[in-house]
Amino acid sequence: MISEKMRPLVENNSVIRVMFEEGKRLAAIYGAENVYDFSLGNPNVAAPPEVEESILEILREEDPTFVHGYMSNAGYEDVRETIAHSLNERFGTNFGVSNILMTVGAASGLNIILKTILDPGQEVMAFAPYFVEYGNYVRNYDGKLVVVSPNTVDFQPNLEEFAQKVTPRTKAVIINTPNNPTGVVYSDETLKKLAEILRKKEEEFGITIVLISDEPYRELAYDGVVVPYVTKYYADTVICYSYSKSLSLPGERIGYLVIPDELQDSGAVFTAATIANRVLGSVNAPSLMQRVIKRCIEKGASVNLEAYDRNRNRLYEGLKECGFSCIRPEGAFYLFVQSPVADEKEFCSKASAHNLLLVPGSSFACPGYVRIAYCVSYEQIERSLPAFRALAREYGLGTVEDKA
Ligand code: PLP
Repeated sequence: MISEKMRPLVENNSVIRVMFEEGKRLAAIYGAENVYDFSLGNPNVAAPPEVEESILEILREEDPTFVHGYMSNAGYEDVRETIAHSLNERFGTNFGVSNILMTVGAASGLNIILKTILDPGQEVMAFAPYFVEYGNYVRNYDGKLVVVSPNTVDFQPNLEEFAQKVTPRTKAVIINTPNNPTGVVYSDETLKKLAEILRKKEEEFGITIVLISDEPYRELAYDGVVVPYVTKYYADTVICYSYSKSLSLPGERIGYLVIPDELQDSGAVFTAATIANRVLGSVNAPSLMQRVIKRCIEKGASVNLEAYDRNRNRLYEGLKECGFSCIRPEGAFYLFVQSPVADEKEFCSKASAHNLLLVPGSSFACPGYVRIAYCVSYEQIERSLPAFRALAREYGLGTVEDKA
């Protein structure tokens, strides 16, 4: 009954399901407070108060037939205008209504742009480690995902291998910064080099290569780190943004695409993307949430970054003290930790015996590492540290005092 195309997805789903079941099993035995689930990228910080306030204001003040009605498939014009204006103010860009297309989160934005530009057999490149759904999204449109192997020194993209793997069939490249799962922010230098390679390859092959910048974590950057705005580096860029993490609204499904004028055939791409939104079945992004976003931008709403920052510092320091090795993340809410053994799935099983639920790096095409999502309560981090310490000792890691 299940289609050929769906079958592998159903089989792969088991990894996530197993982890979910494992969490439930452990919670039933030890109590939920003694299970340290670091597996999900679901924000634990509440949406800012402006969200609730805006919802109530809209329901009281705005015409319900307008608030709950259909609008242009690209979204409400005043909402798109507000977003464009806010981007221009913050990043010195020059966007208008005709560059912003409201989407059902980043997942929908990625599907819309891939459906818009991809012909069967064309290649989309991604840098490992990458968000595992990219492969599924590309296959939705019969494209082929080409993976560039990880640069495990600093987890900036491996640009040498990238340059070698671009072919005349390359249609797009997906980048994600701040990155899930590493927390790394791609530097100004990285983006300059990436743009230069892309421009050269476009010229060499006489093709257009679209750089898709997947940015649900743009606002989650720490220590004053600047997340470069990608359209400034490369003309053929499409930005895929989401409020799932920046306003802690993952279930509300709201985001947008930026299709800049500088992109090749920008107007036609925008029209096609609007149609893609419709025929993929979303039709338009949720109307109430669009209106909420407008008010939240006007009110300057943002999520409590300090809570994530506190978690990041405590967990990073705690893991280092245990003897684990990982780079200090500058953004998002993930730590990417090197497994003490090559088979990180075995390490995850050992961790789960200490009630620690971690995601194997092979789920992000980067075996030998594990992802720890620290969008959890500070108390969970504090309580989990003895378990991490015990796990580290099993592998002969530990602090100087421990080893003595
Ligand atoms: N891209 C990346 C890198 C993500 O981590 C996620 C969600 O975790 C998404 C896209 C999907 O985000 P959304 O909830 O906006 O669809």
